[in-house]
Amino acid sequence: MKKTLFSLLAIALVFSLSTTAFAAYNFSFGQSFVYDETYVLGDANGDGSVDGKDSLNLKAAVAGMGGYSTDIQATDIDADGALSAKDSYSMKLILSGTKRSEDFEVKNGEHVQLYRLTVGGYDISDYSIVLNEGITDDDNSYVAALILQKYVEKVTGELILITYGTATTDHVIRLCQYDLFTEEGQKYGVEGLRYEVKDGDLNIYGTLRGTMYAVYEILEQYLGIRFSSNNETFVYKARLVDIPEGTEEEIYPRISFRTARQTFGSSGALNYYLALKLNGDYLGGYDEKRFGTLSGPIYSNAHSFNEYWKMGTGTYPANTEGMTESQILEAKYASGTAPDPYGWQPCVTNEKDYTTLFTGMLECNRMGMLWGNTPFIEEGVTVFSFSICDNQNYCTCRNCRKIAVTQKEGYSGLYLSLYNRACVDVQEYYPGVRLMGIVYAKDFPATIKPDENLVILYCGTGCNNHMLGREECYESGGQLNNSNNNNDVFALNFWGDACKETGADLWFWVYPVTYHYYLVGCPNIPNLYYDTKYLMDECNVTGIFYEGGGRTYNFETLKAYASVRLMWDPDMTYEEYVEVCKEYLYINYGEGYEELWEYIEMQTEAGDQCGTCFINNFDRPGDMYSYEYIAENYEYMRSLLVTALNKAERSAHKSKIETLIMSCDFLGLSSVHTDWYVNENNVELYKERYANMYNYIVSNGIVTFSEQSVYPVPESLDYKTNPMTQFYNEGSRRPGIYP
Ligand SMILES: [Zn+2]
Ligand SMILES: [Zn+2]
Repeated sequence: MKKTLFSLLAIALVFSLSTTAFAAYNFSFGQSFVYDETYVLGDANGDGSVDGKDSLNLKAAVAGMGGYSTDIQATDIDADGALSAKDSYSMKLILSGTKRSEDFEVKNGEHVQLYRLTVGGYDISDYSIVLNEGITDDDNSYVAALILQKYVEKVTGELILITYGTATTDHVIRLCQYDLFTEEGQKYGVEGLRYEVKDGDLNIYGTLRGTMYAVYEILEQYLGIRFSSNNETFVYKARLVDIPEGTEEEIYPRISFRTARQTFGSSGALNYYLALKLNGDYLGGYDEKRFGTLSGPIYSNAHSFNEYWKMGTGTYPANTEGMTESQILEAKYASGTAPDPYGWQPCVTNEKDYTTLFTGMLECNRMGMLWGNTPFIEEGVTVFSFSICDNQNYCTCRNCRKIAVTQKEGYSGLYLSLYNRACVDVQEYYPGVRLMGIVYAKDFPATIKPDENLVILYCGTGCNNHMLGREECYESGGQLNNSNNNNDVFALNFWGDACKETGADLWFWVYPVTYHYYLVGCPNIPNLYYDTKYLMDECNVTGIFYEGGGRTYNFETLKAYASVRLMWDPDMTYEEYVEVCKEYLYINYGEGYEELWEYIEMQTEAGDQCGTCFINNFDRPGDMYSYEYIAENYEYMRSLLVTALNKAERSAHKSKIETLIMSCDFLGLSSVHTDWYVNENNVELYKERYANMYNYIVSNGIVTFSEQSVYPVPESLDYKTNPMTQFYNEGSRRPGIYP
């Protein structure tokens, strides 16, 4: 009887969700699932086939005989955690052809990756998900329940019911969402989470984001799911997994602002952005309370004075009849004066200018809210940008100079005083809101400290080759603009200390992206780990904005993924970071992940040996790698990719590795051009490789540069010119640093 009721309720629930809530929230997965094949059921000795040897192996294991290595996941056919005569019998059915291995991996007519999930030893089908009484569709734990329900069904084939208040099942998964403003809620804060298995129940605690984050953690940890892109979700295979009695996990993230921009695919943010606990901005439709609120700015991302000035100098329309508030503000904005964002900065000491900027800030952000950018001011996670423009033309009027120069506050201190003033004034309008402003100037204030409601943004560093805090950068040596990290390290430490002292925050904008020269990626994957650690441990950085973008021919998505994982778990060791990278390589490129990691390490070494500092967004690839190192190791590095290609089984993996080989050949042939072709030491192989590379680029429509009109793909094969020069013209090398 109970069973009948359960199925009826389940059907009713699915129906109502698919017609209302699902449609409104775009909760359909929208992604494809990639199922890992780590073993074939029945293949006891792991030799790739199910045969008589496996049967003997299993019999011996059942009889308790030693000397056999048996894969329990592959032989525990009844998924009870032990090998028994029952498993031997099922094996017999497979061997006789009465049943196929796959037949034992089906539940309710569907293939399942995890055949049996238990909690504290009890089967997941004994459970229901219980929400607090009073939870509505607009609460995060409701979203968490839907996510958990969907993935449990997808992976195990078991549909578990969602109920409110009291349970109808013997065991429960209780999603306990506290109001943020209660005593319990304050303990968890916006993001804290806890889960435990106690007396056979799985209890999950949080406030605005915690229950959703905990669910994603459990899906990764126990259901073997990896959210590696928006479009694809990877699932490991297992026979039996238990979330054991006594499990206890508690997480309070150290980085409170986590954002990454990269091409993750086009589906909903639930498959990647929220699953990996990013919380910054730009979610389009996901910046709602039920998705856990967002920590980023609600109107302008970074620079904003030019926009506020335009709003502040605008005039209201003479006749506002029939206009919405948003239309009135838009009209005012349109009538304002727009200063040049790359040449203008406001005066700090002129009262009227301050009023213009401050009014502009209030009205621009109000306009953003009317557009639907949801503010979470009360929760203390919303910020408004209040920041200088992207240039260094600071005001040099008499009064401003007095503060900056005479009083030794510097231009950073001068504009900091403007930020601080607005931080205090804005509380009257939006209590609890924080403002964020950029610091650029390499001078430091003598006495002015950041207000406790200020978020200082620090953008990028002058060198992408060397790691922060290691004193490896060159003071001079032919770098572009003599750029290096030395000043940045000093500044980051200075601002980090100042923020820690007053309770302000320091957020860092990191630019590891390969923006322009798409045939060659910037060799900075280990740097991401050590730099993030340095920023957090030494500079008190509490927010990271990862600037991604560009094409994904090399390892751009790996970089973003690894960084995102670090933002959530910054205390991981370097070995764990490498494991994150290798797993990503396994998921995206197949069995040759060890070879690919070795290739990445050699690329990093080639970068280190280039003999200078470089900035990956501006420097040329020919300047980011040692040609000598690449020339010497080209054949070996290429062989790593070829091995990975041979190991790959999926066509998607193969094609990604083929693209890597094209890229490897581009840099490799550029490095050996003189030796192989000009000096005629390996002409035939040079020509063969070059022709293959060129044809691959043309036939696959590879975009070689960000603005293809600047460096178009060469119209024909050309062996005589170095490929780097042929494809990137005189932009291939910076003059003066190489022999
Ligand atoms: Zn001034
Ligand atoms: Zn450097």
